[in-house]
Amino acid sequence: RKLAMQLGVSRNTIVRAYAELEAEGIIASRMGSGRYVEALTPAPAPARIDWHYHTLGTLAPAPSHMAELLGVTDKYPDIINFAHGDGGKHTLESSGFPDYVKSTAEQLHSYYFTSVQGLPELREHLVSWMDMEQISSPEQVVITSGSQEGLYLIASLLARPGDLVLTEMPTYFGSLQLFQSLGMQVVPVPMDAEGLRVDVLERILSHCRPRFLYTVPTYHNPTGWTMSAIRRKQLLALSEKYGLPIVEDDAYRHLHLDKEPPPALKALDHSGHVVYLNTFSKLLFPGLRIGWVAANRKLAQLLTRMKELSITTNTLGQLALAAYLRNGALRPHLENARLQYSEQAAIMESHLDRFSPLGIRYERPKGGFYFWVSLPEEINPRKLMARCLERGVSFTCGDMFLLREAEQPYIRLCFTHERSEKIDRGMKIIAEVLQQGKEL
Ligand code: PMP
Repeated sequence: RKLAMQLGVSRNTIVRAYAELEAEGIIASRMGSGRYVEALTPAPAPARIDWHYHTLGTLAPAPSHMAELLGVTDKYPDIINFAHGDGGKHTLESSGFPDYVKSTAEQLHSYYFTSVQGLPELREHLVSWMDMEQISSPEQVVITSGSQEGLYLIASLLARPGDLVLTEMPTYFGSLQLFQSLGMQVVPVPMDAEGLRVDVLERILSHCRPRFLYTVPTYHNPTGWTMSAIRRKQLLALSEKYGLPIVEDDAYRHLHLDKEPPPALKALDHSGHVVYLNTFSKLLFPGLRIGWVAANRKLAQLLTRMKELSITTNTLGQLALAAYLRNGALRPHLENARLQYSEQAAIMESHLDRFSPLGIRYERPKGGFYFWVSLPEEINPRKLMARCLERGVSFTCGDMFLLREAEQPYIRLCFTHERSEKIDRGMKIIAEVLQQGKEL
């Protein structure tokens, strides 16, 4: 309008002139608080475009740990699989969930997308499922394509390339890969059987200001450890003191082998510093790709705006899950699964006990999916894995969960993917390979 007045022409003439210049690629307009135009630099004459691949950080070298892990069953379809962290096909079959998918698909005539934030009914069920006074409304919940996407959105919102982020060490390898690919610098915080070492975290916070802490406080992956109630309180006090956001990944909470775990950090969070993440990958199956984030309304809105960039999470899965939760089918399914997993864990443990003369140590997990097993120093886990793969058994090597090689070698054995008989067979094979001890 100002320009129109200066030039003594109508505003429409200016608008038309801008539109013509834009159509010819001479200027570009962009939206900010108002509309701006900027001159575009003319392209150099021979207009061959070199492709540039921009990444924020360092992509994991191919094949990444993720690709390696997911590829095990393609390469070895009949393998006894202690590598994948899931409940296996038996759990899925006995859950009854496939029937819900079938009937949802049959009734699906004219569905388009559901809301970007996620199916409202599913979000309502999740509010009751979480049962925390901090999360009282479906507006605080965002449905994501697995919790991995939730973590991706939160990490991108809270930190930028070059920023420091804190995580337990060892930690879930998908989080390490994500933070490094986003160009963030991972600051490791050691842990012990009581969970993250809050005393070490306090020392770190006395000299640097990371953007957030990522933690799996309950039945941690890969160690199986659970943060004690007292450490939870200490951690929340520190987070309040320094204003440190905590990203709590609670994927294994409902998979306890004996008594229930301490309350989630989010349930103890009176200052609003905790962002809560969870997933159906461990409760049902990972291929479903449905997880959720629970946070304060403002953060949930921001996450929804970011989620919009990939439109929404798959509608069929959300509708089937909403029906499953509406019918109260999740609780009895988990009761069955926990019984099954306890039996399987006991079988794996009985074999591990027999390994102890070979210098193999572990702590019995109280929940979750894994035994985190420490090997004698002279054993190379990669060589052990290669020998076991030849004999038809897979597991994961500890280095996947670490920033650099540990002094003590570890392997992670998942006890939930295979049923008892295969666990028995697989563990006997590992014992034989260990006892032969050749070139390990
Ligand atoms: N967090 C943790 C701690 C996990 O162990 C896993 C799966 N191994 C995930 C997140 C990934 O979950 P999703 O399949 O929902 O992306």
